[in-house]
Amino acid sequence: MKKTSKILLSEKEMPRQWYNIMADMPNKPMPPLHPATREPIGPEALAAVFPMELIKQEVSTERYIDIPDEVIDLYKMYRPAPLFRAINMEKAIGTKSRIYYKYEGGNYSGSHKANTAIAQAYYNKQEGIKRITTETGAGQWGSALSWACHHFGIELLVFMVKVSYHQKPGRKLLMNSYNARVVPSPSTMTESGRRILEKDPDSPGSLGIAISEAMEIAVQDPYTKYSLGSVLNHVILHQTIIGQEALLQMEKADDYPDVVIGCFGGGSNFSGIAFPFLREKLANGKNIRLVAVEPASCPKLTKGKFMYDFGDSAGMTPLLPMYTLGHNFIPEKIHAGGLRYHGAGVLVSQLLKDGFIEAKAKMQRECFEGGVLFARTEGILPAPESTYAIAGALDEARKADIEGVSKTILFNLSGHGHFDISAYEKYFEGNLPDHEMTATEVDAAIANSEI
Ligand SMILES: *Cc1c(COP(=O)(O)O)cnc(C)c1O
Repeated sequence: MKKTSKILLSEKEMPRQWYNIMADMPNKPMPPLHPATREPIGPEALAAVFPMELIKQEVSTERYIDIPDEVIDLYKMYRPAPLFRAINMEKAIGTKSRIYYKYEGGNYSGSHKANTAIAQAYYNKQEGIKRITTETGAGQWGSALSWACHHFGIELLVFMVKVSYHQKPGRKLLMNSYNARVVPSPSTMTESGRRILEKDPDSPGSLGIAISEAMEIAVQDPYTKYSLGSVLNHVILHQTIIGQEALLQMEKADDYPDVVIGCFGGGSNFSGIAFPFLREKLANGKNIRLVAVEPASCPKLTKGKFMYDFGDSAGMTPLLPMYTLGHNFIPEKIHAGGLRYHGAGVLVSQLLKDGFIEAKAKMQRECFEGGVLFARTEGILPAPESTYAIAGALDEARKADIEGVSKTILFNLSGHGHFDISAYEKYFEGNLPDHEMTATEVDAAIANSEI
């Protein structure tokens, strides 16, 4: 085993292809359905909202897809991303296991979301698009897309979930600095926003509502497209650069993970690190566990229902087969804003249903506790979302110690928490409530979201 705690790749060693798990899935996902007719739709139905190249990726069954040179050049601003062994944290908890993490916060956006933002802005530019609309929860996705759009000369309009808009003014200002326009959602700019405000003028907003608003604007203009920061197959494809690099880095470390862990919002950073390792299991029979960690207050994987549901609250998206809490569900205002989405991506949902991945739910106080331990030992203040992956990794290490075995644990540190200081302040004041959705609440949320 290597002694140093930092495992790097050179630019030359950076993978030149994304990995598409669709090629290796034993059961392919069920098709998307038209929101009105409920008939299976083909790729052409998405042409009003996405550029053609991304639609092709969305339905592709090619195993590896080449990363365009221009995207590679921009990736090189911050990639290959480092892989660290968390030696100081291992010591602090006295574990016999080895804990590694891939750090995706070292770029202009502070999270993994830059990996798909750059690719999506590039493909939109190639097809002559002038403006993009999008939603953002905690603001990481909006920040990631703002810079990428500005780089390619595309205007960006961001609908930001209202509760985060007020909780995280720094994120809004970062987006403005990268030249994007940011509107709190629900807004009066759209029909879907106005409908929500009529019912509830104090609505804190949700990702589902913000997606409806962004899509509504995009379908009205042929030069405006819509862009999503998680959930969809093409987004997950772009994030596999994380796991593709991590495979090579683990090899350099002369080690191999028993378990790979990621926090879970819509599934992009978890899938990004896990899918290239899952391929080793599906294709080469490697014995490895993949664990997604979600908030107990938004437990779509552990308590949600596998069914067709909308991706947004107004019912504008195609119906997708996924684990969901219902498209009208508005989660508690926990601080991991990026994990407050009602559903899970189609690929992850099918893989979970088929037993190839695992999921667990955790409360926010325990996650922040892990986050603070991580900051004090490893010297990086994690994003609130990423603390769920840290807590998941600590669980695995403690479990191994109780069993008297030593495991190799790899997790994805999806972002830094420099814009989330006020959430840490609440944690230190003892002012961070735990919340767990009960089975009755889940049933009610699903019943409230009939399709
Ligand atoms: C958006 C975000 C997440 C959650 O989204 P996924 O698509 O599930 O990865 C997690 N961590 C950070 C730092 C984020 O910005």
